[in-house]
Amino acid sequence: MQKRSSNALVRQLTARKRKLLSLVSLPPEALPGSLSQSRYRCGKPTCHCVRDEGHPRWSLTFMVEGKKRVQNIPKDRVEFVRQRVDEGKAFKQGVAELMAINAQLFHLMDKQTRDNKARGQRGAAG
Ligand SMILES: [Zn+2]
Repeated sequence: MQKRSSNALVRQLTARKRKLLSLVSLPPEALPGSLSQSRYRCGKPTCHCVRDEGHPRWSLTFMVEGKKRVQNIPKDRVEFVRQRVDEGKAFKQGVAELMAINAQLFHLMDKQTRDNKARGQRGAAG
């Protein structure tokens, strides 16, 4: 990689990092997992669900200590839960991107430091 393009990349990554840090903060009410809708039949022989696709049921599926958990979500809480799940997703994406940027910056800057050191040693010797 050329030095100029690597400096440009460091600047670009640092700017993105600054932006991310300004956008991402720990969302206090975030929820894990994903919200999904399924259908069920209640079992009453006279109910409309015998003939149609069934009653809607919302659930939140998430992992706790490696085990899958499913929580039923009342219909009137679906929007509330959806917002908190979205907050959780955005936070996780932000943190993942930040760490990926830090890994790239670490690699680039470590390389620059070692390149500079090598150049300095050459300069001292010659
Ligand atoms: Zn029914």
